[in-house]
Amino acid sequence: MVNVLLPTTTIGSFPKSKELKKLRKAYDEGKVGKEVLEAKEYEETVDWIRFQEKIGLDYLVDGELYRGDMIAYFAENLQGCDVSGLVRSFENFYYRRPVIGGKLQGTNITREKVRWTQPITVDRWRFAQSLTTRPVKAILTGPYTMLHWSYNMYNSKEQALEDLAKAIRPEVLALINAGAKNIQIDEPGISDVPQDFLLAKKAIDHIIRGLEGQATFETHFCFGHYNQIYPRVLDLPFQVYSFETANRGFPMYPLIKKSPFTKTLCLGTFDVHDETNPRPIKKEDVKALILRGLELVPPERLRTAPDCGLKTARSIELTRENLRIMVEATREVRDSYKPLS
Ligand SMILES: [Zn+2]
Repeated sequence: MVNVLLPTTTIGSFPKSKELKKLRKAYDEGKVGKEVLEAKEYEETVDWIRFQEKIGLDYLVDGELYRGDMIAYFAENLQGCDVSGLVRSFENFYYRRPVIGGKLQGTNITREKVRWTQPITVDRWRFAQSLTTRPVKAILTGPYTMLHWSYNMYNSKEQALEDLAKAIRPEVLALINAGAKNIQIDEPGISDVPQDFLLAKKAIDHIIRGLEGQATFETHFCFGHYNQIYPRVLDLPFQVYSFETANRGFPMYPLIKKSPFTKTLCLGTFDVHDETNPRPIKKEDVKALILRGLELVPPERLRTAPDCGLKTARSIELTRENLRIMVEATREVRDSYKPLS
């Protein structure tokens, strides 16, 4: 339990080192064994935990150094899912598009029900948590987002979402049994397709039903149609929501002004997509954004984070410098709440 005003955190992913990227490639090509790759992933996880502690982040993450991306990683580890070859996204990067409800055999796909067979993230979470006394968030990808960025081999979205929810719930239970107290279920797909909100909600309700008191459930939304999902997004069973609030000038601000934010708001304090900017963020900009956030929710219900995951950041050095500045800015605002002595 973190007992400070304005606790700081991150969304989940950190950039991989050049050495780790090389090893991942070598592993894919069958040139090194799994244990060599995993040893490096664990080594870098230790580095990132130490770094987060050093700069004073409150809720830590393991950095997701063992994931290709947030969808493929789970598709690789759930039965009845598979991962296709590289596909070009509208943002012009390549990713391996997963298949939900089927197995690839050459160019054929055999239909198969999605099922959870064993814990996917628990060992990684347990390892990261064993390194620190601060809480480490467990991070999963939600059912709607899994489906949204994949090929759906089911006859309907409803059936696919139902089976995905049934497959993700046991992972949540396994994390709770291992001791995870903060579980983030990323659902950026929801703000992409607001018309499917109720379908997504049904799936998330299924995952969390009855577990509300056993962990703090959190979610992350990337930039999307916030104006079409807010305020009904607050009906989801999450206690903490993170949005991209630095990118494009705090698009949630006028929405929350109109309709109060009743949960905890995790403020995105710097844009992670600005590839043109080689310089660190400015502390004064972060502080100004936090103060705007405090116009919307009290400090007990405000957290600070980057806008999104940092795996595509320009460099490890810049990522670390920006996080350090974010923590310092937050601390300065936090200190202004201390009683005068
Ligand atoms: Zn995001």
